[in-house]
Amino acid sequence: MWQLKQQVYEANMALPLHGLVTFTWGNVSAIDRDRGCIVIKPSGVAYEQMAADDMVVVSLSGEVIEGRYRPSSDTATHLALYQRYSDIGGVVHTHSTHATAWAQAGRSIPALGTTHADYFFGDIPCTRPLTSAEVAGEYELNTGRVIIETIGQANPLHTPGVLVYQHGPFAWGEDAGQALHNAVVMEEVARMAWITGEINPKQKVIDDYLMNKHFHRKHGPGAYYGQPK
Ligand SMILES: [Zn+2]
Repeated sequence: MWQLKQQVYEANMALPLHGLVTFTWGNVSAIDRDRGCIVIKPSGVAYEQMAADDMVVVSLSGEVIEGRYRPSSDTATHLALYQRYSDIGGVVHTHSTHATAWAQAGRSIPALGTTHADYFFGDIPCTRPLTSAEVAGEYELNTGRVIIETIGQANPLHTPGVLVYQHGPFAWGEDAGQALHNAVVMEEVARMAWITGEINPKQKVIDDYLMNKHFHRKHGPGAYYGQPK
């Protein structure tokens, strides 16, 4: 458990380093599926004061198992994603500026180039708005549900993040480090897509043959990018 706390702590600390969070906004978690629990950032603790030991261990049903702080208020969203997708090992939520701007505009981030296609197979979708009943009820759980509804039948590792309408980005990956990586990419492609639209508002999304090439050379059985594992 110490090792997972360390990983989650490091991924949380990397959020301000990459310019993805302001104040205490944002949170990272990771799951230990053998033990049936997740490790997540404590709620509202400043990054400068946070230590690996402050990470909170929470059961899959949401009870705190270990830790002196309350877990992130978004814990139920993270748990919903882990419960639905067995391939997800880490989840990141931020209000990073450009990705959040697309979420606030209620627009999916279009796949406009190979930077995007290296990590996301197709557009990064934006959810529908939550209803007033969904917000008044189990808000964080319902946020998880609307993300799951948006991914639909897609492979969550082929769409490793979505925008929650008028809220912000959630990203995930095989572990906390991969989830962080995808959150950083999401912010960067959100920024690039905005600038691209300014330069050429009529530009179309990337052609399938180019997107397929870039996504599949990094992911899946035929991948050849980087060094063999
Ligand atoms: Zn949020």
